[in-house]
Amino acid sequence: MSNSEETFIVGYVGRHDCGEGLRAGINLDAGTRLLVESPLYTTSVNFLTDTPTEERESFVKQAFEQLPTHIREIAMELPNMEPFHLIQHPQLTSFTTQYSGIVKSNAIPYSLDRRAGGAERIGIFPTLSRINHSCHPNAQQTWNSELRAVTIHAFRDIAVNEEITISYAPEAIIDEKYLKDKYNFACSCEWCLAPAEVRAESNNNRAEIVLRNEHLHNMIKAGLSEQDQGLAILAAKQLFTLLRTENIVDWRLGRLYLDCFDIVAERGNKQRGKIFAVLAFHVFDHCEGLDSDNVRRIKMRMEKLFGISKCDEDFLDWMEDIEKEWKMLKRCQGGAILDWLFWKEIWPKS
Ligand SMILES: [Zn+2]
Repeated sequence: MSNSEETFIVGYVGRHDCGEGLRAGINLDAGTRLLVESPLYTTSVNFLTDTPTEERESFVKQAFEQLPTHIREIAMELPNMEPFHLIQHPQLTSFTTQYSGIVKSNAIPYSLDRRAGGAERIGIFPTLSRINHSCHPNAQQTWNSELRAVTIHAFRDIAVNEEITISYAPEAIIDEKYLKDKYNFACSCEWCLAPAEVRAESNNNRAEIVLRNEHLHNMIKAGLSEQDQGLAILAAKQLFTLLRTENIVDWRLGRLYLDCFDIVAERGNKQRGKIFAVLAFHVFDHCEGLDSDNVRRIKMRMEKLFGISKCDEDFLDWMEDIEKEWKMLKRCQGGAILDWLFWKEIWPKS
C-alpha cells in the first residue's frame, strides 16, 4: 500500500520481529508532515495493563460494536499479535482477545510530552498504527486539537526506503520494561542492537534529561526568585548540552526553549526572550506544524508579550527581524554565543 504522493510506503521493513512498517517513498526533508489521522478507537494506556484480560476483552468488544460499521471494519483489519504472545503465556490461552488484542497490538500514544498529558491517551489508527517504535526515532506524533487528529512529522531527514519510526515511551526515554508491559514487545531497533557499552552512556544521558527537565519545570512552576533565575538558566544550559550530546531535536528541545523563554522574558530580559521564543517556534513548527497547539500558543504569547499585531504579515516581519538579530549576535559572539544566550552573567558564582 502507498499513499497518493508516495511519501511513505506501508509494507515489510526488513525487521524479522515487527513485520510491516512504514518506509519513506521519497527522500523526506526534516519538517515534512507525513500523516494526519484520527483514531478509530481510543483508550488510556493503563486500561490495557491494569484491567483483567476477560474484562478488558468484553469492554473493548462492546465498544467496537458501537463503532460505525466502516470504522469497525478498518479496525478489525489491523493485525492482532496477541495470539502470538499467548503462546508464550499458556495460562492465558483460555481467554480470547479478538478485540482487545487488536488494541494492544496497534495502540499508539497521541504524544509523549508528560507535561501536556502525553502518553496517557492511546488510540488505534488505520496507517499510523503501522509505524514501528524506535529508541532513536526520526518522526514524532502529536495530538493536534484543531484537526482533532494526530500528526506525524519527520524531524530528521529520512532517506528513500529508510524506515519511518516514532517512540512509544513517554518522554521518549528508553524503557524496556514499559514497552514490554504496555505494548508487549522487546525493542529491536538499531539502537537496541548496538553493543551494551555503547548504549550505557546514552542511557544515562537520557535518564538525566528526564530528571533535569522535571527539576527545571518544578523550579519554574514554584516561581523564581532573582537568585533562582541564575540557577534555572544554568540548569537549562546543562539540559541543552545533554540534548545536543544525544542529538535530540524533537519537542523536548522546543520545550526547553519555552522554559528559557519563561525564565528570561517574563522576568525582564526581552532580547533573550524574543530569541528563545523564535527558537521554540521553529522547533515546534518543524516537529508539529504551524497549526499545532504548541505553535499557536507560542504565537499568541509572543503577540501579547511583545505587542505584535495579530496580522500574520506583521508577525512574519517581526520574526524575520529577530532572526536577523540572532544571526548578527552569533557572528559577534562567536564561540561564546551559548554563554550569552543562556545568560552566563547571572549564573551562581560558586
Ligand atoms: Zn530500541
